[in-house]
Amino acid sequence: MAISLHLQFSLIPARLPQIRPSSLIRCGESEFDAKVFRHNFMRRKDYNRTGYGHKDQSLKRMGDKYASDNLMQKLKENGKEYRWGDVTLKLGEDYGFCWGVERSVRIAYEARHQFPDRTNWLTDEIIHNPTVNQTLGEMGVKIIPVKEGKKQYDLVAKGDVVVLSAFGAPVQEMMLLTQKNVEIVDTTCPWVAKVWHSVEKHKKAEYASIIHGKYAHEETIATASFAGTYLIVKNIKEATYLCDYILGGALDGSSSTKEAFLEKFKFAVSEGFDPDKDLERVGIANQTTMLKGETEEFGKLVENSMMRRYGVENISNHFISAKTTCDAAQARQDATLKLVDDKEVDLMLVIGGWNSSNTSSLQVIAEERGVSSYWIDSEKRIGPGNRITHKLMHGELVEKEEWVPKGPITIAITAGASTPDKDIEDILAKVFEIKRHQE
Ligand code: SF4
Repeated sequence: MAISLHLQFSLIPARLPQIRPSSLIRCGESEFDAKVFRHNFMRRKDYNRTGYGHKDQSLKRMGDKYASDNLMQKLKENGKEYRWGDVTLKLGEDYGFCWGVERSVRIAYEARHQFPDRTNWLTDEIIHNPTVNQTLGEMGVKIIPVKEGKKQYDLVAKGDVVVLSAFGAPVQEMMLLTQKNVEIVDTTCPWVAKVWHSVEKHKKAEYASIIHGKYAHEETIATASFAGTYLIVKNIKEATYLCDYILGGALDGSSSTKEAFLEKFKFAVSEGFDPDKDLERVGIANQTTMLKGETEEFGKLVENSMMRRYGVENISNHFISAKTTCDAAQARQDATLKLVDDKEVDLMLVIGGWNSSNTSSLQVIAEERGVSSYWIDSEKRIGPGNRITHKLMHGELVEKEEWVPKGPITIAITAGASTPDKDIEDILAKVFEIKRHQE
């Protein structure tokens, strides 16, 4: 595809709070079409998104590093419950590595195997798990460094191998890499690409995309780069504010001004976003790992507001929505909901990266249900002695002494989609050590 590029790639920050590809990229007189670009990007001869024929070796290497063949095996064989002395463990029905994560990491392993003599880069953390990222680093796969808020793309040379993470990459980054003549290894999870298709549909039908997500999260940054006009909304509180604006203050009588609206969402809207015009026709999309219940409530809230504003009979001209939450993230949320309802559970371990959005959703479930929950990303957060450093759903870090009580205890375990079994096993080994010292 002949693209006349006027991108100032050096201006692409590591995080892209405001993505405006359509304003930056033009194909002659017509507006840049991200869908067409990606279609052609994926047909380049130096592009791969399936692996290089080293699947078995890669899965074996991953198994050696991330699997647990002891405790986790016992838990699985015993219907996800296991008793050791005073400790009863209850593991969620669905937990840990999802197929999308396993696929991404496996393809990155295959790429390293295929190109041992070339420099291998990652555009970002491949997934949000410290163990996995560290292991890839030890294998010689480097994350493109960030200096003063900007990725150092000048370090990436012709012929290098660049792995796009499971969250995908923004259009601008793909275009830059195209120009650099590097080998592209695209590990974007297909669930994420499905959301891109949704926002592309919105764009084509001239609906603004309202994305339920976190504007600074890599996945949402990539999704927004495929959207036309967009607004990113984080939670129900922000959605209520938005709907109140749509209804001119009818929800709580405190309608915002246009200026206040734009100030509130200044990092979360496309260039030139005009709430008075762009909120007339809206499509809903979401970051795949948001809390399922919240995404559903969010969609209904916006749909109801559009019905009130434009009439039920006209809703199809003003609102569209498709399910784009990911099944794997939902399954882990459902499993956690079951665990928090279990009256025998004394405390819950929420295991997964502290920057993992899908794990944070699990912590939200536990905290909102009032369960004593400890979100940790590795066994290093436990100790010395009976101490734990854990994260709360709003990001605060908390240290707690004597977190494992004496006597019989039932511990529920839930783990985000990017958490390997080995992390869970190492954490439980620390718990057993604490219990041993209490005897
Ligand atoms: S949680 Fe869902 S979107 Fe994320 S990698 Fe796994 S399957 Fe893909």
